[in-house]
Amino acid sequence: MKLYVIGIGPGGEDQMTLRAVRALQSCDCVAGYSLYLDLVAELIEGKERIMTGMTREVDRCIAARDAALSGKTVAVVSSGDAGVYGMAGLTLEVCEAHPEIEVEIIPGITAACSGGAVLGSPLTCDFAVVSLSDLLTPWEVIEKRVRAAAQGDLCLTLYNPASKKRTDHLQKACDILLESQPSEIVCGLVRNIGREGEEFTLTTLGALRDTQVDMLTTVFIGNSRTRTVNGRMVTPRGYRGV
Ligand code: SAH
Repeated sequence: MKLYVIGIGPGGEDQMTLRAVRALQSCDCVAGYSLYLDLVAELIEGKERIMTGMTREVDRCIAARDAALSGKTVAVVSSGDAGVYGMAGLTLEVCEAHPEIEVEIIPGITAACSGGAVLGSPLTCDFAVVSLSDLLTPWEVIEKRVRAAAQGDLCLTLYNPASKKRTDHLQKACDILLESQPSEIVCGLVRNIGREGEEFTLTTLGALRDTQVDMLTTVFIGNSRTRTVNGRMVTPRGYRGV
């Protein structure tokens, strides 16, 4: 019994690993949020689909597990990497009582890496990743983590910077950072990474505070050494002689 959990990267087929493509091709049944299944539509043509809405992850994983128990080879698909705010952990938990299912997790390019490459090289050195979604994490905990990243002068990547219901989380996070960081710190925004309509903007921490973003955006906040190099965002590693 085989259950793959596959990170498909930020966009379509050309952003996936060969291992992910081969696993998708080999399965009978694919479970995932419909937007992600559409991104790999050609690869899964004719395969059974388990689709549920964005907030029904548990139901989707249980349906995928049950399909695997019935003898099908099943893939649970996440965007980016399945272990980064994705379905890998949940799938392992849902399968805890079924050791007969072999769960194989296939990594994908997470938005921090794909978006970082669009901007330049913002995450060259130590960095932190924080999701601003408080659906599953209390807001006080998120604030504590953002503050800790600032204290460590870490570059910071923010996932889920806003949603339709939450429009001020990025502003609140910037206000926390501005308590200790200068407003000129270089920041970048990348929207629709690897998909149609990909766009990026370079800005400063002060201006980022008043920028409207949506849930298809990943935000990058530099550290004290981050600068722009020919219009790209670069955190220097510190090599001498440049
Ligand atoms: N597992 C995913 C993250 C899911 S959380 C990964 O590893 O990338 C969802 C958040 O990820 C979004 O709100 C956004 O901040 C970021 N994200 C994922 N894919 C993206 C893309 N193609 N373009 C821009 N941001 C993306």
